[in-house]
Amino acid sequence: MTNQAVSLIQSDRAETWQEILSDLITDPQKLLRLLELNPDTCPYSLEALAQFPLKAPRPFVERIEKSNWNDPLLLQIWPSEFEDNQADGFVVDPLNEEEFNPIPGLLHKYQGRVLLTAAPHCAIHCRYCFRRHFDYRANSPSRAQWEEAFAYIAADSSIEEVILSGGDPLAISDKQFHWLLQQLANIKTLTTVRIHTRLPIVIPQRITRELIDCLNETRLRVVMVVHCNHRQELDSTVTDKFDTLGEAGVTMLNQAVVLKDVNDNADALIDLNKALFKHNVLPYYLHMPDQVAGTEHFYVTDQHATALIKTLHASLPGYLVPRLVRENPGERGKTRIA
Ligand code: SF4
Repeated sequence: MTNQAVSLIQSDRAETWQEILSDLITDPQKLLRLLELNPDTCPYSLEALAQFPLKAPRPFVERIEKSNWNDPLLLQIWPSEFEDNQADGFVVDPLNEEEFNPIPGLLHKYQGRVLLTAAPHCAIHCRYCFRRHFDYRANSPSRAQWEEAFAYIAADSSIEEVILSGGDPLAISDKQFHWLLQQLANIKTLTTVRIHTRLPIVIPQRITRELIDCLNETRLRVVMVVHCNHRQELDSTVTDKFDTLGEAGVTMLNQAVVLKDVNDNADALIDLNKALFKHNVLPYYLHMPDQVAGTEHFYVTDQHATALIKTLHASLPGYLVPRLVRENPGERGKTRIA
């Protein structure tokens, strides 16, 4: 085979999720060039960028409409100058999670389940994220600390479910993920593993054959809660992966956050929930945004969100209406609003 033929074949090869992950867009100017936007028309906050850098994977950016500052996907990742606003009641750790953090990487907040921060990073930085100030470095367990976490879970027979969160738990390699699932499956009292992830949306290539095999192999019941806020985030590469996960017996749920100017209208939420259901993903939660420092511009009032849910109830079957909830600091469960 000639060198030219080899290089043609290589350039036709689909990118792996690891290659996409190692080539995230982190420079706002580059993002604007790709989206054909003029930086002078919407400045960004250098302070916000330093605190929580821009991170956007190309498959997600490709779904953003060019030349549109109001694109609902762009608004979720753009480090707007509004992040510099210091609003009353918007704080660094709105959920006071440190209180429930007995071992690095483990949060025991809910009755019957614990949360493990399986990966110290995400593939995307969602500007409204309640963990944007979270100290992931201090919560990246070493092997010894993982053993401590497994011992903690095994010692409490009331714990039946482990929630893998992050960061994004699918940001770790298949090998690490497999190891983690095996360790959890060895704890006899566990019945379920729940994976909270945005990766199938932002880099659908992450759903590899190896990952599916690993999910199939475990004795634990697997629930995957994806995080999609807008219909435009779903293209066929994403929905094909939903189909694959559903065929593998994974229970698929979605949680969204209601965000000002992104999805705070009934049409957007109806479209989203119908599109998810076509691929066997049920709407689970619609979260009120947490009052995190730098995110006031995403905030919607309870009154507005409650009115949205009422419209959804009038327009959709009950099983397509998510539960509107908020997390209140110090409370062990979510508080249902509507
Ligand atoms: S993927 Fe989830 S944890 Fe990561 S930045 Fe987005 S909302 Fe936060």
